[in-house]
Parts: sequence; structure tokens; C-alpha cells
Amino acid sequence: MATGNKNPAGAGAPKKDSQPKKKTKKIPERRCIGCGETKPKPELIRVVRSPDGEVSIDPTGKKSGRGAYICRKSTCLKRAFKLKQLGRNLNCEIPEEVLERLSEEITAALETDEGTK
Ligand SMILES: [Zn+2]
Repeated sequence: MATGNKNPAGAGAPKKDSQPKKKTKKIPERRCIGCGETKPKPELIRVVRSPDGEVSIDPTGKKSGRGAYICRKSTCLKRAFKLKQLGRNLNCEIPEEVLERLSEEITAALETDEGTK
């Protein structure tokens, strides 16, 4: 029998290093260039400018280059384009035709998203 144990309360007693496995997975956050809100990265669409200057959407988030993030919302998309935030964030001029293509691609991505829900 364990007598002489001077720890009266079992509950609430702080234990050191009792559960080293407790790990909260940190989701990186990025700022939407449309509305300026910070959101978890998976909720945003990444647009990337590759080292050779090609601008495209990056569904995997793994392309190299300078990236900008937009919410999966057409309002943010339109706003970002209207205010030329995309070019500003990617630090380059983005031709109208590229913007149009991006707009179509992102809109398509939005539709796909809604379809899978
Ligand atoms: Zn947004």
C-alpha cells in the first residue's frame, strides 16, 4: 500500500512532460489580396509567378515563384483584379489576357469546389 504519498489531489495537479505527444498542427495563414483577411492557406487559391515570368494558378501550392493568395470567392477575385492587387503582389505587370484566363480558371476551381461539397 502506498502510504506517505504527499500528493493529495490527483486531478488538476500539474505534471511535467507527461504528454509530449500532444501536438497541434499549425496551419499556415496567408492574406487574401482581395479582402485583406488572413485565412488558413488551404482556404485560399494561390496564384504564382514563375521565375520565367509566367503567371498561373497553383492548385498544389508547391510551384516555385512568387505567390499571391485569394479567397475562394468571386468577390475577392474581382476586387483583387480591379484594384490591380495581383500585379502589385506579384511585382509584375499582368496582361489583360492573363487576368482573364486566371479569372476563368479560378471560377472553374470555385465551381469544382462547390460540386465536391
Ligand atoms: Zn478574400
